[in-house]
Amino acid sequence: MIVGDGSEPIDDAILLVRDGLMIATGRGPVLAIPDDARRVDLSGKNIMPTIVNPHIHAGYLKGASTDAANFSRENVLDHLRRFVYYGVSVVQSLGTDRDGVEIAIRDEQRAGTLDDPELALLFSASNGIAAPTPGGGNGGAFFAPEAILEASTPDEARQRVREIVAKNPDVIKFWVDDRNGTKQKFGPDVYTAIIDEAHRAGKKAIAHIYELEDAKGVVRAGVDGTAHMVRSPGADDELLTLMRESGAFVFTSMSIQKMMVDGDGWLDDPALAETVDAESRQAIRAMLGQATPEIVTMMTNNYAILEAGLRQYVDAGVTVLLSGDTGVLSQFPGFAEHRELESMVQAGMPALAAIKSATLLPAQMLGLHDRGSLEIGKRADFLVLDGNPLDDISNTRKIADVYVAGSKIDRTKLKATFTKEQHV
Ligand SMILES: [Zn+2]
Repeated sequence: MIVGDGSEPIDDAILLVRDGLMIATGRGPVLAIPDDARRVDLSGKNIMPTIVNPHIHAGYLKGASTDAANFSRENVLDHLRRFVYYGVSVVQSLGTDRDGVEIAIRDEQRAGTLDDPELALLFSASNGIAAPTPGGGNGGAFFAPEAILEASTPDEARQRVREIVAKNPDVIKFWVDDRNGTKQKFGPDVYTAIIDEAHRAGKKAIAHIYELEDAKGVVRAGVDGTAHMVRSPGADDELLTLMRESGAFVFTSMSIQKMMVDGDGWLDDPALAETVDAESRQAIRAMLGQATPEIVTMMTNNYAILEAGLRQYVDAGVTVLLSGDTGVLSQFPGFAEHRELESMVQAGMPALAAIKSATLLPAQMLGLHDRGSLEIGKRADFLVLDGNPLDDISNTRKIADVYVAGSKIDRTKLKATFTKEQHV
């Protein structure tokens, strides 16, 4: 049993669950088991907490297309089911809601009117903010520029934050990115206003950044975290010190940068084929196949910088949180999280630390104190695996079962709903 807090795994573990909560955890021979307990024998299996991913974009991906036309309540709910299928029990969508669909689902889940263990628990930033680009879409999410609010001045930025706060978002998301010189981006005066206004409302602020100076700027302005690591030429000591001292976290967001780096064999992973049909995987393969050798070389070099960056953030003591950027391009809901975890370990992060960054730490960041690790008093949300992820992190994809609040999810039934909804 991997606890999720970074501690050494427990062999021959027993979990005692009552009313969905763990009331005892520990080693078999030591722990007393009530006579009337219903026993589930998981001999030979490995268990770990369900994954918490604080960076998704719900509702846009369908088949192989990432498009606003796909967005609907039904598609958001489909994604939430796909997450649970793969043992991802909590997700946070970052700034691309449409017509309040995400906020409505979140509110129904919190009110208990949408009480379905087959749906991941949704957090939402509602809509994010970016600078306007005259004559073109803004530098926010490329697939949803019209879902992003725009602001040019500090006063406008404060106004936008107040409009978003009126919907009670879980976080304020903003983009500082000129998209390789093609878009306008905020200067420090505007993003400082966004962060300050978010904090006045008691909300965290998360910045999408790619460049080193922007990263330093938002951290100096008090941002709570960055949605990406900095890209080429990578982080430096000043940024790492600023982040460690301010307590700002960094999202990994690696696997989305990796789709052209390690070939297309990952599209044949049996665990992916369980929820994404051959046609859709072939369409992604064709998209990847369009990259020229020069682009592949550039992506590969840039990815090596990200891998080195992860080690820098970890070594500097910055809080690192798994981030799938799921629901965009090849980031298939539920599967992307496992690929991200694998990317973190391949980059050199110890598996126990990577799992903590995928479970306990993001749960804490979201203020969820009743989950994220397999400890007494918390919800019994866990994955049952056919392989040990500490031997090979890709074993997190060998899922035997998923338990949510102590109950086994019917994955066979769930899977049938995905194959039915495809071919669109
Ligand atoms: Zn994102």
